[in-house]
This record gives sequence, structure tokens and C-alpha cells, in this order.
Amino acid sequence: MKEKIRVLVKLQHLDTESARVASSLKEVSKRLENLDSGLKEIEQTIRNQESIANELKKKYRDHESDVKANLERNKKNQEKLRAVKTNKEYQSMLKEIEDINAKNSSIEDNMLECLDRLDEIETIIAQKKNEYSELSEQIKIEKENIEQEAGVDKKKLDEINIDRENVMELLDSELFKKYIKIKEQHQGGLAVVPVKDAVCHGCNVNLPPQLYNELFRYDSLKFCPNCQRIIYLKE
Ligand SMILES: [Zn+2]
Repeated sequence: MKEKIRVLVKLQHLDTESARVASSLKEVSKRLENLDSGLKEIEQTIRNQESIANELKKKYRDHESDVKANLERNKKNQEKLRAVKTNKEYQSMLKEIEDINAKNSSIEDNMLECLDRLDEIETIIAQKKNEYSELSEQIKIEKENIEQEAGVDKKKLDEINIDRENVMELLDSELFKKYIKIKEQHQGGLAVVPVKDAVCHGCNVNLPPQLYNELFRYDSLKFCPNCQRIIYLKE
């Protein structure tokens, strides 16, 4: 019985290890995704800023052609001015020219504002592009580390599986079935637990003295009356 328990404990140890390594491998893809999401965020910011910049450039060009059209109009107005006959006509033409000049000067203010904002946006884009390349470099290194860790885990898992096959050969199938059943009852947790000073280490409850004494005899499989796990003496 002592040997059976030993094999069972060994199997349980391998199963626990295997579950741990498998869950760490599962984390790998999640970690890789998280790394990429930081990059995607920066990419999105750059795209947004670039589209604002393009709008500003378009606005600037529109202003530019408005100014040009106004200048053209005033050139014609100047010619007309020379041809006017009355003072009233002269004054009214002069006023139109001044109005158009005032309009142009306000458009030119807007153009300067556009240029200022474009400057700011281009600074942001340059910063973000810098951030992007720094982060990509960082992520590249992290990815290599993660993949290296994953490689180690995969190798470990292979080794565990080989060990497990060897242990399974030593285990009788009835005992294995019991082990699996108890494990399932405890949501994949421990099925075999040590007892120390008459306390079950699965549920921390005291065993009845008679059962505790029987454990020393190793004549049959014993179960904790509280958590139903297989129990053995911790020596
Ligand atoms: Zn128990």
C-alpha cells in the first residue's frame, strides 16, 4: 500500500505540474495579444492626427484660393476705379476694395492659425512615431522572451508526459479510476493528501483517532471522512 500511495502521489505531482505549465502556455498568447494592443493604440492616434492634418491642409488650400480670387477681384476693381466718373462711384468702389482687403487679411489670419495647428499636430505625429518604434523594439525583445519561455514550458510538458506514462505503468487501473473520480469531485484539485498529527491536509479537519491509527498499518486505502480524499501518513 505504501508503494501504491507513493506512485499515486507521484502521479498527482505530475498532473499538478502539467496543469500549471499548460495554463502558463495558455497565458502566452494572451500576453502576446496585450503587447500588440499598445502598438495598435499608438497607430490609431497617428491615423487620427494625420486625418486632422489633412483637413487642415485642405482648409489652408481653400483659404489660399479665396485670397487669390479676392486679389483678382481687387485688381479688376482697381482698373474700374480709374474709369469711374463720379465721386460717389469712386467712394463706393474704394469701399469695396477696402472690404475685400479686410476680408483677405482675416482669411490670412486663419491661414496662419492653420499653420500653427499643423505644426502642433506634426510634432505630435513625430512623437507618436517615435513612441511606436521604441515600443516595437521593446515588444520584439519581450516577444522573444515569451516565446523562449513557451519553448521551455513545451519541453517541460513533454518531459512530464513521459514521466506520467512511466508512472501509469506502475499504477493499477482501479486505483487510477478512483484517483480520477476524486480529482473530478474536487474540480481538478488534489485527490491524494497527506495527514499530519491526525489532521487531513485536504480539508484541515481532524480524523477520528481509530482511522488515524489505521493509517499506520498501510493495509488498505483510506479516505478522509470529511472531504473523501485518499489520505496517507506524512512521514
Ligand atoms: Zn479531508
